[in-house]
Amino acid sequence: MTVNLLDFDQEKLAVFFAECGEKPFRAKQLLRWMHQFGESDFSRMSDLSKALREKLSGLAVVEPPRLMQEQISDDGTRKWLLDVGAGQGVETVFIPEGDRGTLCVSSQVGCALECSFCSTGRQGFNRNLGVAEIIGQLWWANKALGCTPRNERVIGNVVLMGMGEPLLNFDNTVTALHLMLDDNAYGLSRRRVTVSTSGIVPAMDRLREQCPVALAVSLHAPNDALRDILVPINKKYPLSDLMAACRRYVVDAPRDFITFEYVMLDGVNDSPAHARELAALTRDVPCKFNLIPFNPFPDSEYKRSPADVIRRFGAILIDAGRVVTTRKTRGDDIDAACGQLAGKVQDKTRRTIKIEVAA
Ligand code: SAH
Ligand code: SF4
Repeated sequence: MTVNLLDFDQEKLAVFFAECGEKPFRAKQLLRWMHQFGESDFSRMSDLSKALREKLSGLAVVEPPRLMQEQISDDGTRKWLLDVGAGQGVETVFIPEGDRGTLCVSSQVGCALECSFCSTGRQGFNRNLGVAEIIGQLWWANKALGCTPRNERVIGNVVLMGMGEPLLNFDNTVTALHLMLDDNAYGLSRRRVTVSTSGIVPAMDRLREQCPVALAVSLHAPNDALRDILVPINKKYPLSDLMAACRRYVVDAPRDFITFEYVMLDGVNDSPAHARELAALTRDVPCKFNLIPFNPFPDSEYKRSPADVIRRFGAILIDAGRVVTTRKTRGDDIDAACGQLAGKVQDKTRRTIKIEVAA
């Protein structure tokens, strides 16, 4: 059976080479060809012997997902739709800032968690992305942005804030994270790679042990009654458990902090009382806040909080001694803003099955 080498991090590639009687250092060579030069054709990997190139062609492929569509926003934001088979697509967004930028990566086809303000959640869940499909998003972005074969690092940050809940696709996400951090692949520092989670408590602990990149937690409410409605996974992992997991995540790394994401929903979670409750809730957690003005999508039941309400909410948190940023909305003319990624998700019936597995 042919394998896709984009599914492997350095460790797994070394095992693959050992199994076919080759030296483990070949793994580093292959990583550089695939991820830094964007090369998918073994015959052009010029520092491999002809015999090895032929052997690889018989055993393996380098196969990123197919690009279905590219859109470019007026503000320079770019969105790519990648084919993940069976009529499904996932979206990746590049947000330029100066001569670098942030790539927002998807981890699942849809999402099973049904947060009421999220377009991806409305789509339902189809399946987890494979490693090649996750890392293939960086592969394509590098190519489309013209960074290969010169190995320029235009992607300065990666955030797993696209479609899906990365911690419910744990193993594939961690393997892809290894590639993002590997100097022979994308070479990002662990503080420049952020996993965003709705709060899958046991998986937060596993991530801390296995690959402690920066962590963003989608909080969105300061008490369980409201969070149960907005982020239903809260019924399984309530705020007291979530706050304890956040404290554990940063305990051994004094310079680290949790980023709390908080979507600003008009008249729902944006009052001064909510802000004070939020400051009290997070008192013992080293953290920063990122307020996200709600991005509407067709049939969404919420409205964005007015700018002065967002300012007042942020000011209360700042008075309580917190660092607060408000996310600028980028790329909304191409539906590339937070929570607007819908991709192409079919077979939505599988959501119920997945919730049983996840819960
Ligand atoms: N599933 C993960 C990561 C993907 S969502 C998570 O929930 O954290 C990335 C961020 O966008 C989350 O903080 C999410 O709550 C937020 N978001 C979802 N829908 C949104 C919307 N319509 N407007 C603004 N932010 C939204
Ligand atoms: Fe899933 Fe995150 Fe959207 Fe919630 S906010 S439905 S966890 S993608």
